[in-house]
Amino acid sequence: MLKYKINKIEYSIYDKGYWSGNACIRIIFSGCNLECKSCESNNISNNEYTIIKILKEIEQYKCRYIILTGGEPLIQNIAFLVDELRRNNYYVILKTNGTQSVIGVTVNWIIISPKTKQLHRSFNHKAPNEIDYTITEHNPIYKYPFNCKRKYLIPMRNDKTLIRRCVNIIKEKNDWRLSLNIKDMIND
Ligand code: SF4
Repeated sequence: MLKYKINKIEYSIYDKGYWSGNACIRIIFSGCNLECKSCESNNISNNEYTIIKILKEIEQYKCRYIILTGGEPLIQNIAFLVDELRRNNYYVILKTNGTQSVIGVTVNWIIISPKTKQLHRSFNHKAPNEIDYTITEHNPIYKYPFNCKRKYLIPMRNDKTLIRRCVNIIKEKNDWRLSLNIKDMIND
């Protein structure tokens, strides 16, 4: 039976990008193929969930929005899970670092949160709905080979220096929007 390694499942107000401020169920997968120095979410967990266990856990919440995040959800075989969630009338949002194939994973919405210059080639023909780009003190802004209408710069922390860097980039390039991380403000 298919099992997924999941850190936790939580119901909360989503904190950044297009879905910021919406109540969503986050399924936080364990593990990632990258090792970013600034990673705050790549906790390894041995919690194993079958699809039935996931459905049972999420049915307690009055919410149809699911965010698959991590870690990196696409290093696990999530296609079956996505199909099952959609069959149960959930709206499925995938947040990925963009380095894994998305072919066969039929989510409703894709957020790329890129951490490297190289993306998997499946993203060249499958345009994401949204790019969430985390801004640190010095990281570069790479150009990617697809059009995306919703492009957010998100300061790693809501401190003045990083917010100022975002503002400067937005004013110069004029095709990004600022998204502050509201997690600290709402404490949810
Ligand atoms: S891609 Fe995201 S989850 Fe993976 S190591 Fe980097 S910051 Fe962490």
